[in-house]
Amino acid sequence: SQMRDSRIKRTKTVCTYCGVGCSFNVWTRDRKILQIEPPLEAPVNSVSTCVKGKFGWDWVNSPERLTKPLIRDGDGFREAAWDEALNLVASRLSAIKKQDGPNALMFVASSKGSNEEAYLVQKLARSVIGTNNVDNDSTYCQDPATFGLKATAGYGADSGTLKDIEAADLVIAIGSNTAESHPVFATRVKRAHKLRGQKLVVIDVRRHEMADRADLYIHPKSGSDPYLLAGVQKYLVDQGWIDREFLNQHVNGVDEYLKSLEPYTLDQVEALTGVTPDTIKTLAEMIHQAPKVAILWAMGITQQGQGAQGSLAIANLLLLTGNIGRPGTGGYPLRGHNNVQGASDFGSKPRFLPGYQDVRDEKVRAHCESVWGGEPIPDEPGLSNTEIADGVLDGRIKGLYIVGEDTALVDNNISRIQKALEKVDFLVVQEVFMTKTAQYADVILPAVPSLEKEGTFVNTERRIQRFYQALDPLGDAKPDWVILTEVANRLGVPWHYSHPSEIMAEVSRVAPLFAGVSYERLEGFQSLNWPVAADGTDQPLLYQHGFNHPDGKAKLVPLSFHEVPVPETEYDILVNNGQLLEHFHEGNLTYRVPGIKHLVPHVFVEVSPELAREKNLKDGQWVRLITPDGRARMRVVITERVEGHEVYLPMNSTGDGAINQLTPEVFDPETRTPGYKHTYAKLEPLDVE
Ligand code: SF4
Repeated sequence: SQMRDSRIKRTKTVCTYCGVGCSFNVWTRDRKILQIEPPLEAPVNSVSTCVKGKFGWDWVNSPERLTKPLIRDGDGFREAAWDEALNLVASRLSAIKKQDGPNALMFVASSKGSNEEAYLVQKLARSVIGTNNVDNDSTYCQDPATFGLKATAGYGADSGTLKDIEAADLVIAIGSNTAESHPVFATRVKRAHKLRGQKLVVIDVRRHEMADRADLYIHPKSGSDPYLLAGVQKYLVDQGWIDREFLNQHVNGVDEYLKSLEPYTLDQVEALTGVTPDTIKTLAEMIHQAPKVAILWAMGITQQGQGAQGSLAIANLLLLTGNIGRPGTGGYPLRGHNNVQGASDFGSKPRFLPGYQDVRDEKVRAHCESVWGGEPIPDEPGLSNTEIADGVLDGRIKGLYIVGEDTALVDNNISRIQKALEKVDFLVVQEVFMTKTAQYADVILPAVPSLEKEGTFVNTERRIQRFYQALDPLGDAKPDWVILTEVANRLGVPWHYSHPSEIMAEVSRVAPLFAGVSYERLEGFQSLNWPVAADGTDQPLLYQHGFNHPDGKAKLVPLSFHEVPVPETEYDILVNNGQLLEHFHEGNLTYRVPGIKHLVPHVFVEVSPELAREKNLKDGQWVRLITPDGRARMRVVITERVEGHEVYLPMNSTGDGAINQLTPEVFDPETRTPGYKHTYAKLEPLDVE
């Protein structure tokens, strides 16, 4: 709305950092961001934000923004007009499609872009090109959680909202550095803990801030959480502390599942996890005594090389104890990027059409084809992000179209993906900055951030929220949905979108999950938690009227563990990684905010006092971490947050300290999610200042 000084404007927006999905008013004068004002009516955060949401916006005016299309010219780029750049993209995509077939092309949607844009990326892949090779960041992080919840309860997402977490009697946080990764959520948990006497259990290899506050802190061997969870369940069963009535009424597969827990005796689990029988019993008692239990988890579970099994173990535990489908209970995988949930929900996944409809389902394909026109949709799932390197290097993928993803830094083993990006015949990158990935591009199309366009995001609670345009696009940059529409038109399939609301209207016809979603119902600070029925009824708390399987019952699914490779002995340091409060992921945005960069200018590695003594390390000293795949250097911080040979490296670096110079090619077999948290290295002191 316009204020007295007519250049001062107030615009509702949604945070573009983490999956908590805080919303606020942003006050601007011309391009200057005057203030971020979270109002009472903001559904997730009310009057709170964290440091990133409050101060992390100045990068939108960075002189490093891309403002003109760029076309490769030798080792560098030259500026080009939109027409020339788009024509080149269209002609190269058609040529590859014609010569090598649609599956020689692969598309990546951004988990920072809008839902509408993620939908258009998959629509471009499927109906314009004719391939299911389309994915987004969730393969790198959250797919194991989606897998575990989908297999058991039926929806691959948080089962309730932050209100339910607040109302729980016991919150268990596993592999989640909540205070730094999801700060506003953490604040609410801390408040419930303090004011309501809510109990908190933290299971993590690092004694982070939440661990210090916890009523019970458990430090299992890295990656052994699934065994610990199985052991707790076996003990609950043995004590008769499971919810038989709930299981009889609502759950299939109970007997077989109970039988599958038999090997996980207290002694066996202690051997596997290092957690004592007494601790396991204490945890089981706390679960038994709490009328309402909610479990939060994040990358410490999912990025372990058996993340799907870890997530399955959590979902099973909730079912066994009847802690799902009631207010104050449930499973909460906390989503990383602001829209990593939405990018998957809206169909940018190799096996799912919008709304998690399986590409192998002929009826679903036929319906999408009737709405979209264009090419028939292939009936086989496509390739995922973590198959790009192999796909390019073995010649299956010739062309890549990457929207707002820094693949060159976020893939595990980045020397290999960088080789692939170097090799691929044609690479289009739609970006806001010259990222590492963009440096390999043949064509760079300058895109705009959320403040310069309209759209919707889905937060970790399945909450769909609108954001509005506060600023004009910088230079010649354009919204991703406009760029994608222009590419489709040049490929001979006319799309007629003049506003993102029209894209959402189309989604509501294609995906039953969003049947009742419309821009009118999301006006201002209103929001809807999917699934949204045609009459506009949404479901903040899932499963109150049954589970999302044909018979309305949930399933207990026996675990099938597999060995995660153990390293050669010289690589005796276990490198964990995660977020810093001040930065976000690789730091493409936050390092461009001077105030934040000043606070935390570069990454460091946390080393235990024991390891510091052993290696004769001093605080602030430079060290090198070396793995069979690569090396990284950074300064040492000595701290009791980590123990023994376990070290912690924030993931927030694009340079010398970038974590993925080290991470191995270990994958979760169910989801192809890399085992980023399972990196073994050597640590060498460096003799430099
Ligand atoms: Fe943004 Fe997450 Fe911070 Fe909220 S908690 S302000 S969504 S980064």
